[in-house]
Amino acid sequence: MRILLVEDEAHVGEYLVKGLGENGLVVDWVRSGVDAVHHGANVDYDLAILDVGLPGLDGWEVMKRLRATRPLPVLFLTARDRVEDRVRGLELGADDYLVKPFSFSELLARVRVILRRGRQQDATVLTIGDLSLDVLRRRVERAGQRIELTVKEFALLTLFLRRQTEVLSRTLIAELVWEMHFDRDTNVVEVAVRRLRAKVDEPFASSYIHTVRGFGYVMEQRA
Ligand code: CA
Repeated sequence: MRILLVEDEAHVGEYLVKGLGENGLVVDWVRSGVDAVHHGANVDYDLAILDVGLPGLDGWEVMKRLRATRPLPVLFLTARDRVEDRVRGLELGADDYLVKPFSFSELLARVRVILRRGRQQDATVLTIGDLSLDVLRRRVERAGQRIELTVKEFALLTLFLRRQTEVLSRTLIAELVWEMHFDRDTNVVEVAVRRLRAKVDEPFASSYIHTVRGFGYVMEQRA
């Protein structure tokens, strides 16, 4: 497994190269977006770990250019605790995020999940059964019917589709879609999921979003 790491902060870069290397992963570390694009054109990476805040080309632009020629899973590292960054990243098709500072074990766990999940998740059209979501054209359809979603509902559905069969806690959803920590109150997530279900599940014969009592939700096809 070969990973492209794009990080301009030397101490973070060194720390990650060492840690990932010790876990059997080959890491090419570059410090700028321009170098990343150059490496990506020449090497078939299994994953890119991209810092959002880079000199020159930012992480979003680097992801766009790296993916112009071939599919590539992307994990973002961000110091920014802005909601827009999270939503934008999900819409652009990032596979996951970590907000700095993060623990190495957390990074390694997420890297392993992404590598396991493989490349089929890089599609820009995500589907489950008769439901499809086109990330680039921002279109959602089920059974041939167009469904209109708000920005947050779209981000939420994108997350569910990219992580099908994975149980997602309300806390994780809150963090990924809203960039908020609702340790006590995850009502915002419940309300949003209810609205999403009313649009994508309830009018149809079967449901794809299922509640995992006391924990969160899972998207999957059930007989
Ligand atoms: Ca940076």
